Amino acid sequence: MSARVLVVDDVLVNVKLMEAKLMAEYFDVLSATNAKDGIELALTKNPDIILLDVMMPDVDGYEACRLLKSNPKTQHIPVIMVTALDQRSDRIRGLEVGADDFLTKPVDDIALFARVKSLVRLKMVTDELRARYATGAEMGLISGNVEEVMEDTDSAEILVVEDKPLYAEKIVETFSTNHNVRIELDPDEALLAARSQDYDLAIVSLSLENFDGLRLCSQLRAHDETRNLPILILVDEEDMPRLVRGLEMGVNDYLARPIDRHELLARAKTQIKRKRYGDRLRNDFQAGLEVAITDQLTGLYNRRYLSSHLDNLISKSVDNGRPISLLVIDIDHFKAVNDTYGHDVGDQVLKEFARRLSSNVRGIDMACRYGGEEFVVAMPETDVSFSYMVAERLRQEVAEIPFKVKTAEGELYITISIGITDWEDQGDSVESLLKRADQALYKAKRDGRNRVVSDAA
Ligand code: GH3
Ligand code: MG
Ligand code: MG
Repeated sequence: MSARVLVVDDVLVNVKLMEAKLMAEYFDVLSATNAKDGIELALTKNPDIILLDVMMPDVDGYEACRLLKSNPKTQHIPVIMVTALDQRSDRIRGLEVGADDFLTKPVDDIALFARVKSLVRLKMVTDELRARYATGAEMGLISGNVEEVMEDTDSAEILVVEDKPLYAEKIVETFSTNHNVRIELDPDEALLAARSQDYDLAIVSLSLENFDGLRLCSQLRAHDETRNLPILILVDEEDMPRLVRGLEMGVNDYLARPIDRHELLARAKTQIKRKRYGDRLRNDFQAGLEVAITDQLTGLYNRRYLSSHLDNLISKSVDNGRPISLLVIDIDHFKAVNDTYGHDVGDQVLKEFARRLSSNVRGIDMACRYGGEEFVVAMPETDVSFSYMVAERLRQEVAEIPFKVKTAEGELYITISIGITDWEDQGDSVESLLKRADQALYKAKRDGRNRVVSDAA
C-alpha cells in the first residue's frame, strides 16, 4: 500500500531520518520543519497521514494538531504524534487534542509502519464516503455539507468485551458519567449484541480466558451490520505481534495495559467522533438517494429508478429460473377528474391510489409511478396467473371503495385499467416486457376500461 505521508519536525535530521524510513517502504513523503508550513501542506497537498513532532518553536505539535483537527478541511487526516516525550501526561495531552496516536522516539519501525498503514486504510474508507457525498452534493441530492466539524461524542453506546471483573469495572467507571456501557463476558453474545444494536464503539480485550479476542474482531469486520463499528483492543504491553495482526484486520485503535483512564477516554472519543462523522455522511447520502429515486407526490419509486433497477430485477429472476411479472396500471378518465374538480383533487386521487397500490403488493414487489397517472409494478417470483389475481383484487378495491377527496361530495369513484405480462424467454428485455404490458393495457382501455388484461391470454 502506498500513501502520502507528511512529516513535520523542526529538527532537519529527524525529518531526513523519517523520510528515509518511509521512502524505503515506498511511501510518498512530504515534509515541513515548522507547524505553520506543515498545516499549509496539509491543506494544499492532501496527505493521507501526518507525523507530527511535539516540541517545536512557535506553534508546537499540540497546537498544530488542535488546529488541524478543528479545521473541517483537515479534520479527517489522521495524525500521529512522534516525540521524545514519554510521560503519560504528554501522551494524553496529544490524544486529547485529537491525535490518533502517539509514538515515542526512538520509534519502533514495526509499530510505526503498522500504525501508519492501519490509519491510512481507515482513512480510505472515510475518503470514499466523502467523495460519494461530494458527488451527491454536486448532483443536488444532498443539502448537507461534508465539511462540518465532527459531531460531539456524548451519550455513546459502548460495548465492552472483558471477562476480568476488575478490569471491566474500571472501564465502566471510566465511561459511566457520559456514556452507556454494556459489558459482555461471552464473545458470541457480544457479536450478537453488536449485530442487533447500533453501538458507537466496541472495546475488546485480547486477554480473554477462553477465547481469542482477535477472532471476535475479525467476525465484527466480516458482518455487514458491524463493519463500520470502531474497535479498540486492549493488549498486553509485550504483545506486539497480536497488536499488529489486529491493526492488519482493521481494528481501529489499541491501548496497552495497564490501562490509563484518561488515555482510554481520549482514544474512545476519537473513535466515537469518527464513527458519528461516517454515519452522518452515510445517512445523508442514503437520504439523498432516497429522494432521488422517489416520486415526491406519491412516495413510490420514480421512473428513473424503475428504468435502472428493472434490468437487475429481471436478470436476477431469470438467472434463478424464477418467473417475474409486470403490471402497467392507468387510471381511467383521469383527465376528467382534473377538469371537473381541479388539479389538487387529482393529486389527492393519485396519493390515495398509491397508498392502495402499496398495500396490495408485497415487500419484494417494486411499485413505481411511471408518469402522470400511470404506474408500473414489477413482481418477482410471480407468474401471470398469480399477478392477475393481485391485479384483479386491486381493480375491485379501487372501483368499489370511493376515494376520499376534498370536494362537496367528499368522495369520488375511480376506476383503473391494468395490463399484465410476464417474462417469456431469452429474447425478452425490459423494453419488450413493458411494451407487451402496455399493449395489454391498451386492450383493456379499448374493451371498456375498469378491467385487467393479460397478454398471455
Ligand atoms: P384514459 O382513461 O384513456 O387513461 O384517459 P385519461 O384521461 O386518464 O388519460 P389522459 O392521458 O388523457 O390524461 C391524463 C391526465 O393526467 C392528464 C394530466 O393532466 C393528468 N396528470 C398527469 N400528471 C398529473 C399530476 O401529477 N397531478 C394531476 N392532478 N394530474 C396529472
Ligand atoms: Mg388514464
Ligand atoms: Mg394516460
